[in-house]
Amino acid sequence: MERQRMRPLRLVLVPCPFQGHINPMLQLGTILHSKGFSITVAHTQFNSPNPSAHPDFSFLPLPDTLPDHNSSTGDLVAFVWELNVNYKARFHECLAQVMEQQGLEDRIACVIYDEVMCFSEAVAMELKLPSVVLRTASAATFLARTSILQLKAEGYIPFPESMSQDLIPELYPLRFKDLPFSVFITLEDLVQQLSTFTNIRTSSAIIWNTIDSLEKSTLAKIQQQCRIPIFPIGPLHEIASASSSSLLEEDSSCLAWLDKQSYNSVIYVSFGSVAFMDMKELAEIAWGLANSQQPFLWVVRPGSIRGSELIEVLPKGFKETIGERGYIVKWAPQKEVLAHDAVGGFFSHCGWNSTLESICGGIPMICRPCFSDQRVNARYISQVWTVGLELGNELQRGEIERAIRRLMVEKEGKEMSERAKILKEKVELSIGEGGSSKNSLNELIEIIMSF
Ligand code: UDP
Repeated sequence: MERQRMRPLRLVLVPCPFQGHINPMLQLGTILHSKGFSITVAHTQFNSPNPSAHPDFSFLPLPDTLPDHNSSTGDLVAFVWELNVNYKARFHECLAQVMEQQGLEDRIACVIYDEVMCFSEAVAMELKLPSVVLRTASAATFLARTSILQLKAEGYIPFPESMSQDLIPELYPLRFKDLPFSVFITLEDLVQQLSTFTNIRTSSAIIWNTIDSLEKSTLAKIQQQCRIPIFPIGPLHEIASASSSSLLEEDSSCLAWLDKQSYNSVIYVSFGSVAFMDMKELAEIAWGLANSQQPFLWVVRPGSIRGSELIEVLPKGFKETIGERGYIVKWAPQKEVLAHDAVGGFFSHCGWNSTLESICGGIPMICRPCFSDQRVNARYISQVWTVGLELGNELQRGEIERAIRRLMVEKEGKEMSERAKILKEKVELSIGEGGSSKNSLNELIEIIMSF
C-alpha cells in the first residue's frame, strides 16, 4: 500500500484483561493491522494474551503489583477499579520509554483503549498522544448506563419492587429491572464508576463493536449527545475471523461430535467467561436439558460452579441418562460452534460478544441473563430483534425443558430461526462493500491517519 510505505503508523491498544473485552480489542488489532498499521498491545500480567497467537503484534507487558485475582469470587468491578488506580503511573512509564526508543518511521498515531481502562486516556494526554475509546458493549447498554446516572439524580432509583416491570420512558423496551446494575458493588459505587467510565474528556473518537442496522436509533441518539465522532464497525469477530484470543484452551473435540448430529438439531449452552451459578441451578439446567430430549453441547467452565470441579458437579445419574445425546466441555471454540450447521439454538447468558456471535451464526436464543449488560441484551434479543425468548428469574428444569422445545421444535422457534437468518444477512451486508460498518471503518482509518 502506497500510504504504508510513506508513513507506517503504530497503534497502542489497551485491552481490559477479561475474555469478553480482550476478544474485541485483539480483533480490532487484527483488522487495523490488515489495513497497514503496526500494533502494540499493552497488557497486564493477569490474563495476559498469548503473543504466539498474534505473531504480527508487539506486546508491552505492564509490571503487575495487583494481588492475585480470583475470578470465581466474581468481584470484577472492584478489580477493574483497582486497575485504574494502579496502572496509570506504570503505563505512563512504559509508554514514555517506547516513545523514546521509537524512530520517526514508527510513530505512535494513537492509543486505543477499552472503555473501562480510563487511565489510558489520561496517560495519552500527558504524553501528547491522541486517544480513541473502544466500547465493547452494545450502544443500548451505554444509553442505559447513562440513564442510571440520570434516574439516580432524579430519585427514581433505587426503585421499589412494584416498579421493576415498568417500562422506562426513552429506553424502550427496557424495564427498571433490565437496567445494567452490578451484582458486585453498591449502587453508590456503581454510580461513581459509571460517571468515570462514561465521561470522555480528551479522546478524539469512539469505536463501537456494534452494527448500525442493529442499533440505528440508539446510535443516532448517542451521536447527538456526543461531541466526538462514533464509529460502529462491528461485528469485529466477523471481520477478523482468523484470530483467536481465547484465554482457556478450546476443546475442539466437540466439533467432531457436532459433525455427527443432524442439521439444526443441537442446542448449544454456555454462560460465557465470568457468570457463575450454584449447584442447584446447575442441576436444574442439567435435568432441563436431559428432559428436553434434544441433543445438546454444554460448556461447564471450571470455577463457574462455586468451589467445584467439572466431574463432581454434574448430578448423579445425569451422564447415564443422556448417553450420547449430550456433549460437555470445559471451554468450546464458540465462534465455530455457532457457525456449525448442526447448531439450531443457543441457551446463553447474553454477553455482548455471544449475542453478536449468535446473530452472525443466524442462531435464535434462549436468554438467561445473569447481570449487568446481559439484561439489556436479552431484552433486545427477545423484544426488538425477536430472535429469542427469555427465561424467568429462577432456573427451573420444567421451564428450561419447555423453552428448549419451544425454540427447537415448535412453530414459534422455527419463526425465530427464520428471523435470525434474516438478521444474519442484514449484518453480513453491513460488513460488505458499501455497508455501514465497512464505511465507518474507512472513516475511522482516515481519522487515525490524520492524527
Ligand atoms: N467463549 C468461548 N468459548 C466458550 C465460551 C465463551 O470462546 O466456551 C467466548 C465467546 O465466543 C465470547 C467470549 O468468550 O467471545 C465471551 O464474551 P461475552 O461478551 O459473550 O461474555 P462474558 O464472558 O464477557 O460474560
